[in-house]
Amino acid sequence: MSDIVDVVIVGAGPAGMSAALAAHQAGYSLMVLEKSMPGGKLNSYQTLEGFPGYEHVSAQQFGLDLYDALTKKDIQTTYGDVQSIEKKGDLFFITTDVGSYQGRVVIMATGTKERPLTIPGAEALFGQGISYCAACDGGFFRDKDVAVIGSDLHAMEEAIFLANLCHHVHVLIPQPGVAPKNWLVKLNQLTNVTIIEGATPVRVLGQDQVTGLRYQTVVHGEQEILLDGIFPVLGWVPNFQPIGSFKNLLDQDGYGLANREGVSNIRGLYIIGDLQAKATRSVKNVIAQGQLVVKEIANVIKR
Ligand SMILES: Cc1cc2nc3c(=O)[nH]c(=O)nc-3n(C[C@H](O)[C@H](O)[C@H](O)COP(=O)(O)OP(=O)(O)OC[C@H]3O[C@@H](n4cnc5c(N)ncnc54)[C@H](O)[C@@H]3O)c2cc1C
Repeated sequence: MSDIVDVVIVGAGPAGMSAALAAHQAGYSLMVLEKSMPGGKLNSYQTLEGFPGYEHVSAQQFGLDLYDALTKKDIQTTYGDVQSIEKKGDLFFITTDVGSYQGRVVIMATGTKERPLTIPGAEALFGQGISYCAACDGGFFRDKDVAVIGSDLHAMEEAIFLANLCHHVHVLIPQPGVAPKNWLVKLNQLTNVTIIEGATPVRVLGQDQVTGLRYQTVVHGEQEILLDGIFPVLGWVPNFQPIGSFKNLLDQDGYGLANREGVSNIRGLYIIGDLQAKATRSVKNVIAQGQLVVKEIANVIKR
């Protein structure tokens, strides 16, 4: 068990890193816990749009710059997957897969994760041809045949990104009519893309590695395609398990209930960023929340 810190921040995405900078500036002792890579979602797409003053900046670079700002202030990131958070008296006890920590307040900034593909074969072949991140893993499928499964704009963006790398991209659209038409037009113009509308995936094929996909359409029944990789793009679900034990903290979809400043109904537990129910999910908003939440801490930690 380590020393008690004032502020434990869970998640080093833009929300968590912004909160870390603000907490440091306010003079609190703090630690940042991150289970994979600082930057969060910024690592999973190419270009950051809509951040005032920055035109088409690299999302990954933006994340690296934020992380750099932390390291310049000697704010350490501790690696570990937070698995439980409990409150005893005035202290929070945070357990990760590698250690246990104590804090006076906790800021949850764990964001969201990709909604998983749940058909047979999908879980077993994750990392063996199934990937949820074209920007991270697309390079492994250069000149190969892949499928994108998804109906929204993000799925179309991923398909276009992969079409620039892969030999052929099959785009299975379970719910036609969701993505903007002009994106479908763009995709249709690419000679190495096949669009299959109204296709429901049924089974991932392959023993140790993806070799194909079985899917179904109302018109043609079950069909199979041979593939090297599959990119499900099915939306997002909250990363909220660690605080699932607290009562009345989640909405019906599992997102965290807190006000604009991140204040939840548990004293000292704050929820910011994409994890929040009804959050406006953009980098500028979550960075602003990271700053706002630290002002609230003064109500709990009296100095
Ligand atoms: C494809 C895509 C494109 C986007 N494009 C834009 C854009 O152009 N402009 C824009 O403004 N916004 C964009 N966004 C939205 C923006 O990236 C998010 O709003 C923002 O990243 C949310 O920040 P966050 O810190 O709340 O969560 P995240 O960025 O999701 O970070 C959460 C962090 O918590 C960590 N974590 C999760 N669980 C645990 C755990 N149990 N223990 C420890 N650590 C944990 C994760 O590893 C991650 O690093 C885009 C999002 C996506 C998915």
